[in-house]
Amino acid sequence: MSFSQRHYDYIIGGAGLSGLSLCWHIATHPGLQDKTIALIESPDDEQNAQSKTWCFWSKDGLPEPVPIRHSWHKLEIFAGHTALTAPLEKMGYYCVQGGDYFARMSKKLSEFEAVDVIRGSIKGYGETARGVKIDVGGKSFSASCFFKSFGKPDLSRARFKLLQHFKGIEIETKKAVFDPLTARMMDFRVPQQDGATFVYVLPFSENKALIEYTLFSPSVLAEAAYDTAIADYITRYFGIEPGSYHITRSETGVIPMADSIHQATQGARVQLIGTASGIPKASTGYAFSRIHRQARQIADALSAAEVPRRKADSSARFRIYDLMLLDILSRDLGQIVPVFEALFANNPIERVLRFIDEQTTFTEDLQVMASVPWYPFLRAGFRNADMLLKGGVNPRTISSRG
Ligand SMILES: Cc1cc2nc3c(=O)[nH]c(=O)nc-3n(C[C@H](O)[C@H](O)[C@H](O)COP(=O)(O)OP(=O)(O)OC[C@H]3O[C@@H](n4cnc5c(N)ncnc54)[C@H](O)[C@@H]3O)c2cc1C
Repeated sequence: MSFSQRHYDYIIGGAGLSGLSLCWHIATHPGLQDKTIALIESPDDEQNAQSKTWCFWSKDGLPEPVPIRHSWHKLEIFAGHTALTAPLEKMGYYCVQGGDYFARMSKKLSEFEAVDVIRGSIKGYGETARGVKIDVGGKSFSASCFFKSFGKPDLSRARFKLLQHFKGIEIETKKAVFDPLTARMMDFRVPQQDGATFVYVLPFSENKALIEYTLFSPSVLAEAAYDTAIADYITRYFGIEPGSYHITRSETGVIPMADSIHQATQGARVQLIGTASGIPKASTGYAFSRIHRQARQIADALSAAEVPRRKADSSARFRIYDLMLLDILSRDLGQIVPVFEALFANNPIERVLRFIDEQTTFTEDLQVMASVPWYPFLRAGFRNADMLLKGGVNPRTISSRG
C-alpha cells in the first residue's frame, strides 16, 4: 500500500488547538495505544492559527503539555465606578503562545510511531463503506473516523448571533509602565457605542505587554478603528504616546457567540471539533479549557468503543445564563457595564472565574445572581421564555443536535 493511500483509525483535520489537543489525548490514552492517527495541517492557514495568544485560568494545574509563556496571580478589573485588584489564591491565570504550543505539541507527537503529521490542505471528504476518504490535494487517505476542526460553525438557526472580535498589539516601551504580576482582565473605561467593549492587558515585563481591544457585537469594525482605540487607551492609561513604543506583534480574532447547540456530526463517521463544532462559550467566546475537555471526552469515548456522541457543552442552567447574557448584549447594551461591575464588585474573583468556567455549584450560582441587577435578566427571561422552558435550547436547533 502506498503512503498516499494509507488507512488510519483516525484522521484529524487541522493542527490548531483542538486538532493537536485531540491528537495528544488519543495518542496518550492507555486504551487507544493500538490506534493509528494522521494529523493533517494546511500550510496555507497554519501561520494564522499559530499567531494567537490564549489565556485561561485553572486551579487543577495545566492541561499537559502546555508551554506557559507567563502567569499572573492578581487580576485587575475596571467597570463603572469599580476599580479592583484581586489576588488569585487557588488559581493561576495563564497565557500560552499559539506558536509555542504548536512547536511543543508537534515535537511531542512526532515521538509517537502511531502518529503521522501530514502537511496538506484537505480539499474534500466523503464516507465510504470502510470509513471516510479524504482528499488532500491529489493524495488520498482513509480513516475509520474523521475529526474536522476547520470551517465555520453552523449558526443559521441561532436566535442571537454575536461576535467576540478583537485586535491586540504587543508593545515594548522605553519606560517601565506595566506590572508583570497583574493581568488586566477587563477594562470597560472605553466608549461603549459599538457594542460591549473592553480592553485586556497582559504584561509580560515592566516594558512589554499585549494590549487587546475587544468587543461583543454583531459585526466587526474597520481595522483602523481598533488601532485608534488601542493607541488612545495606551496614551490615556499608561501615559505613553504612539512614537514612544514599538509594536512587536499583532493578532486579530473573531469568535462566534451564539445560543445554538451546533451540529457535531457531519455523517456517521465525521465529527466536528473545536470552534467548528461551536465549542466556545456562548456568552464569552472562551474556548481554551473547553477544547481540552472536549478532546479528553472524545478520547475516553473512543477507548470505550463508543461513537463519540456530542454531549451538550454546557448544562441547562449555564445555557440559560448564557442565553440571558446574550439577550442583554444584543438588546439591552446599556446594562452590560452595570452587570459586570456588580459581578466583579460583589463576588470573590475566583467565584466569578469558576462561574464563567461553569464550575460553580447551584448555591454559588444563586449568590452570583443575587449580586447583579435583576431587572435586565428578568426582561431577558420574559423575552426568551420559550427557550427557558426548554433548558436554554433554541427550539429551532433541536433537530440539528448531534
Ligand atoms: C486571536 C485569538 C485569540 C484567542 N484567545 C483565546 C483565549 O485567550 N482564551 C480562550 O479560551 N479562547 C481564545 N480564543 C478562542 C479559541 O481558543 C481559539 O480560536 C482556538 O485556536 C480554536 O482552536 P480550533 O482548533 O478550534 O481552531 P484553529 O486553532 O483555528 O485550528 C484550525 C486548524 O485547521 C487548519 N486548517 C484550516 N483549513 C484546513 C484544511 N482545508 N485542511 C487542513 N487543515 C486546515 C488551520 O490551519 C488551523 O491550524 C482565541 C481565538 C483567536 C482567534
